[in-house]
Amino acid sequence: MSQVSLVVMGAGESSRFRQGLSIKKQWLRLGETPLWKHVALHLSKQACFDQVIIAASPKEVKYMQKQVDFKVIEGGGTRQESLQNALARVKTPWVLVSDVARFDVPSEVISRVMGRLGEAECVAPAIGVSDTVSYQGEYLSRSEVKLIQTPQLSHVESLLLAFGQGDFTDESSAIAKSGGRVLLVEGSERLKKLTHSYELTLLQGFEPPFGGSYGGSGFDVHAFMEGEGLRLAGVDIPAPVAFKAHSDGDVAIHALIDALLGAVGAGDIGEWFPDSDLAYKGVDSTLLLQEVIKFIRGIGFELINADLTIMAQAPKLSPYKEAMERRLGEVMEVSRQRISVKATTTESLGFVGRKEGVAVSAQVVLKLLDWTKHACFNR
Ligand code: MG
Repeated sequence: MSQVSLVVMGAGESSRFRQGLSIKKQWLRLGETPLWKHVALHLSKQACFDQVIIAASPKEVKYMQKQVDFKVIEGGGTRQESLQNALARVKTPWVLVSDVARFDVPSEVISRVMGRLGEAECVAPAIGVSDTVSYQGEYLSRSEVKLIQTPQLSHVESLLLAFGQGDFTDESSAIAKSGGRVLLVEGSERLKKLTHSYELTLLQGFEPPFGGSYGGSGFDVHAFMEGEGLRLAGVDIPAPVAFKAHSDGDVAIHALIDALLGAVGAGDIGEWFPDSDLAYKGVDSTLLLQEVIKFIRGIGFELINADLTIMAQAPKLSPYKEAMERRLGEVMEVSRQRISVKATTTESLGFVGRKEGVAVSAQVVLKLLDWTKHACFNR
């Protein structure tokens, strides 16, 4: 049995990176493989690890777990909190911790780090600097300055103790602060951290994203009850009836949400917004659609088009189709050209024909964000 576990840090919100893009950097794709999975697979093959644990953003745990056999756990608000959550699951005395932002980990660096197992409480790769360095007005001797990288190998118990004493940006600084020994080994220029979207050039030479499309379909029905008007695709429509529903009953948006979730394989609306949850009582469904589209963009997808068919015998919907397309475009931040809302009756057949309710069928097509075409990449 190995004495070391691997923890991959993939829980960040990529706030600096997302000033340029809607995608989180851990979801940039090499082919169809997201960066976090690429890092976990690559590192897990470089040494014998007893456990492999991936820290994920809470909303993405289930989705990520579907894609790997490794253990995916819920991260915290900071890198350190996420790592502490992961360490709670680690059963080995040592842990190698890697950040997804340093996705190009040379095998030699892993060998250099792992080769010093047991020699210090923390072994970290580091590189020297070529620029002149000034600190608080004082010029430092360049040869004394080191930039500390990851992955770092740490003694779990020492690390947990060290983390108890404050907030740190990495394991080596925490262990050094608590009096533990840190051993620096030669790092690599290739371990540069992908932080801002203009640094996408770091991905040059890697496999570009899969260029195919992903289709999704959704279907929903809501019954009428006595009331004063319907909301469909975010538009209020006068009617002598209302929808019987836990939410605002916007059956068009519900079908659309299911189509979006279906295209990326992320469950269905009932899992995301359970009708047993009081938080969603009477909720404006456009807010739910916004949350879903934000998730979908965050994990690297873009909407090509959405096509909805609303089946209603009454009220007459043709005067509202254009407003519905506009509203869906606004909510999803896509041009109206990419959205189609169609309305049909069912020739007086079935529950729709008997004017007992409305059914909606929705189809969407998505594609992966192509970082090679991004302006920041072509600078
Ligand atoms: Mg519904």
